[in-house]
Amino acid sequence: MLANMMDQPLLISSLITHAARYHGQTEIVSRTLEEGIHRYTWGEAEQRAKRLAKALLALGVGPGQRVGTMAWNTYRHLEAYYAIASIGAVTHTINPRLFPEQIEYIVNHAENQYIFCDTSFADLIAALLPKFKSVKGVVFMCDRAHMPSTAVPGALCYEELVAAQDPDFTWPTFDERSAAALCYTSGTTGNPKGALYSHRSTVLHTFAAIAPDGLGISARETVLPVVPMFHVNAWGLPYACAMVGAKMVMPGRDLDGKSLHELLDGEKVSLTAAVPAVWLGLLNHLRSIGATLDHMQRVVIGGSACPRAMMETFQDQYGVEVVHAWGMTEMSPLGTVNTPKFQFKDLSGKAKVDLQQSAGRPLYGVDMMIVDENDQELPWDGETVGELMVRGPWVIDAYFNTDPQPAHRIPGWFGTGDVCAIDPDGYIWITDRIKDVIKSGGEWISSIDLENIAVGHPKVAEAAVIGVYHPRWDERPLLVVVKQPGEDISKEEMLAWFEGKIAKWWMPDDVAFVDELPHTATGKLSKLQLRDRFKDYRLPSGG
Ligand code: AMP
Repeated sequence: MLANMMDQPLLISSLITHAARYHGQTEIVSRTLEEGIHRYTWGEAEQRAKRLAKALLALGVGPGQRVGTMAWNTYRHLEAYYAIASIGAVTHTINPRLFPEQIEYIVNHAENQYIFCDTSFADLIAALLPKFKSVKGVVFMCDRAHMPSTAVPGALCYEELVAAQDPDFTWPTFDERSAAALCYTSGTTGNPKGALYSHRSTVLHTFAAIAPDGLGISARETVLPVVPMFHVNAWGLPYACAMVGAKMVMPGRDLDGKSLHELLDGEKVSLTAAVPAVWLGLLNHLRSIGATLDHMQRVVIGGSACPRAMMETFQDQYGVEVVHAWGMTEMSPLGTVNTPKFQFKDLSGKAKVDLQQSAGRPLYGVDMMIVDENDQELPWDGETVGELMVRGPWVIDAYFNTDPQPAHRIPGWFGTGDVCAIDPDGYIWITDRIKDVIKSGGEWISSIDLENIAVGHPKVAEAAVIGVYHPRWDERPLLVVVKQPGEDISKEEMLAWFEGKIAKWWMPDDVAFVDELPHTATGKLSKLQLRDRFKDYRLPSGG
């Protein structure tokens, strides 16, 4: 027997409608490229998103068609997110930091009809446009006065499109399983692959994101997503803030420590989120000017393992609570968030940070298991490591238009490619990506654990560990270190730092000092590039 409840589809438009209707006066603040700090409200955002929706329809954009965005986090990008998806089209966020060939590939693979573009990408777009097969036009996200001088045939002006329409528009209703947004993985090997989110998966993910054991976002929060809207929808924050009517602060292009600090302080931001590499810049800046973080309460750190030293600095020196989270493009992205269970709520000091090293425990809606090389399930003892498999309503079932489908070798489960242990309380302890694991004499050494210890040294700014060839052990760990500016540290001093902190056979065989480490388009260490750089490296221990 079916129940008698209203069968309302879960649509992305309902998020901005709610924000406008019940939090219409709450601010959205953006640092823009052309007009300095811009302020308006959720109420105005919805009105403009409706005008833009009508403009899209007038351009002939129809249900299911993909519209690209290549833009920083600003109010216009937010409007585009809501307008495109809410008419049944698909917002395809393009990461401008990808190699031009990858951008060409994903735009053509996604068959984008239009591209909404910040003016700072005018040259990039102009160079690539002749290679785009389906793109009918480029919309520059500015007013007429700021249209770029670069020649882009048929370029349209965002503000003119919006001004030509009125906001008298009712968001259409359609199947909640319709596609809403498309995001390609940063693709360290092979071509990037697309994760195509639905309205339903996005709204369910948003409920989980705002929950207290998720990111815990309420109407009382001021949220600054540093994580770009082209990196898995800024981890869902543009949707989460609308669902609760939180104030948003959009940082635009400038994500350096000084620019971020100005906004965090000036707008009294309570919650922010980004990958660890961004926080290095902020912490260095704060240290250099002796500043404090007076309003910030929590910082969400994910995308790569959060080093212990960074956690301690935020918590002990600045009084900002670290929320360590794990996820991936293929899961919208939230999978686990580190919040204490009841028995851990009073932990403090070292014991608290010990637990925070875990990437967290699954949100409701995400189911997990770990498996061995033969896909046999492994125990949750906190020690045994295996590949993490996940399933749930916001985990992809298949990559967009990709054949054959990788990562679905166990029916109903998505293979994450991450290696972890799960402890009896359900917290996951990530040790590596499968392809980054260092296999020494048949045993596995965790590169993440070694990196976290290395960056705990006050003279170390950043560190990466890769496996290099060894004739006896197959592979041994090489530690690659970037020193803190103005500091000097020897190999011996570095290795002595590990003593007593790891099993003896985990000790790196050598240390290489470099000026900088390679990063991917989403700010993670690029082990692929690093392994390539050190491919001819011979270890002093006999390699
Ligand atoms: P992306 O799809 O670009 O968001 O990358 C997802 C990948 O980032 C995951 O599969 C992990 O390898 C890595 N990752 C994300 N969060 C964490 C974390 N807290 N600790 C370690 N690795 C992480």
